[in-house]
Amino acid sequence: MTAAAVAAYPQECCGLILGQRELSCDRSQPEDDDRQVLDIVPVANAWEPSLLDYTDPTGKAQAGHGQRDRYWIDPAVMLAVQKSARQQQLEIIGIYHSHPDHPAVPSACDRTLAWPVYSYVILSVQLGTVADLTSWRLDPQHLFQPEPVKIIGTSANNTPFLS
Ligand SMILES: [Zn+2]
Repeated sequence: MTAAAVAAYPQECCGLILGQRELSCDRSQPEDDDRQVLDIVPVANAWEPSLLDYTDPTGKAQAGHGQRDRYWIDPAVMLAVQKSARQQQLEIIGIYHSHPDHPAVPSACDRTLAWPVYSYVILSVQLGTVADLTSWRLDPQHLFQPEPVKIIGTSANNTPFLS
């Protein structure tokens, strides 16, 4: 994830986070589950200016936006990743993207486009170096709440597992 964020700088990178959920004992809180990251799938930032800006359907705020401060994942790509993940008993548990020269805090646009089911990991890349990594989840009011991130092990190629 960090390598993709650095490679894409000064553009935003994005990708899908695969893993498994452990349902909490309290089934009245289905979104209050623990999620274990087991794989990362970098995908192309498919943002282009012709895409409608959901935060401003009139398009007026479009001017000046590009892949430096917007990302978009092609829904067809997401579907394909979801299918291959299921074959490995994994599912998409989150989406990551980078904020070049901006803090690792979700933007209004990030919130508008977010789904409650996923964790949203944001990497802040300052001058080409990853400075911060945060994770967020929507609450029932569609507001982002930070969620703790724990490194609990490393894979064969020394990639840290996040939980
Ligand atoms: Zn963002």
